[in-house]
Amino acid sequence: MSSPGRELSMALIISTAIWLAIIFGLRFLVLAPLRSQEAEAMFSLLAEVKPGGVAYVHDPENPLWEGRATRIEKRAGDIIAVALADGSATSYNLPVKIGVVRYLGAIAMAEAQLRSRIVIEGSFFEQFPDEEWIDLILAHEIAHLFSYEVGDEPHGGKWHAMCMRLYAGIMTGPPHPRACRVTLR
Ligand SMILES: [Zn+2]
Repeated sequence: MSSPGRELSMALIISTAIWLAIIFGLRFLVLAPLRSQEAEAMFSLLAEVKPGGVAYVHDPENPLWEGRATRIEKRAGDIIAVALADGSATSYNLPVKIGVVRYLGAIAMAEAQLRSRIVIEGSFFEQFPDEEWIDLILAHEIAHLFSYEVGDEPHGGKWHAMCMRLYAGIMTGPPHPRACRVTLR
């Protein structure tokens, strides 16, 4: 025999579970990265190249970089130096290899499996000509690479702490208010 109160709470628990499942499913559906074919090809290519150093920018003469390739390689190296100093990065996840494509489906994406790779969409450099944005995007994506190694989910607590730490480590002033917000992939 069950009381009406108990039945009601069971019904509440079941409906809450159903809603959570729907919301969780939608979250993955909406946030699932839809990479372009061009991006898939770039990720594959970056998996194959074996550069030296800690940060590598692929095809620096490509006009899609809008002349930013050298600076990106330098700033990625600075961020990685912060990560190496505090133990976030190991030689296992280095070098970080960075490529650019015309269309990605996001501003930038990181892939930690099969070595550390980042692909950036070329239009990003037109939309955000500000150098600070480039630092931000690099800290965001590099934090994805290194927090994946410690088993964190994308944009989880460890990712956020690492992103803030890496970003703060290369800035002289306080972190930018836009730093490490989950508006990028
Ligand atoms: Zn992200």
